[in-house]
Amino acid sequence: MLLRLQGLCFSFSNPAHEVEMALKVIARKSGLHGRGLFAASDLAAGERLIEYKGKRYAAGDLPDMKIEGVTKFLGLSDGTGIDGTGWAALANHACEPNCELREHEGRGQLRAWLHALRDIKQDEELVWDYRLVVKSRKEAYSRWACACGAPSCRGTMANPELFSKTRKDKAKEQASSPQ
Ligand SMILES: [Zn+2]
Repeated sequence: MLLRLQGLCFSFSNPAHEVEMALKVIARKSGLHGRGLFAASDLAAGERLIEYKGKRYAAGDLPDMKIEGVTKFLGLSDGTGIDGTGWAALANHACEPNCELREHEGRGQLRAWLHALRDIKQDEELVWDYRLVVKSRKEAYSRWACACGAPSCRGTMANPELFSKTRKDKAKEQASSPQ
């Protein structure tokens, strides 16, 4: 299952309080946004890098994204979620990612880990495609605009499937569908 961010807030504080041995990744200032995650050494395709940690939410008890303090809310396939506040949540979005989040079963619950999508050289920034769930096309392209610089940048961190069809396309479809 492809994991997606259910909500994102840019005002989250840095997890300086967290004590975590993050040997494969390091956090430092990013050219994309704020602090980012970088490869601490050469990484192999598929390698499991760091767990996406934060406050856990039970299914049916998801937070209101407008409440201050919710930072990077990740929805899992069982309906639970994690509001990312750990190192992994520092990883920035990019439209041509070199990492992705994958689910793993562990200690009685689903967990999410950042994995390398391809071989990654030491000091490369680690980025994944947030595919952020947003309510409107306008929100996607204004509030969550993307300027990752990739040739294929789609201009938003939002899930492209939400807006894959323009209004014009939809109108055309409706007009041509049999009554
Ligand atoms: Zn982009």
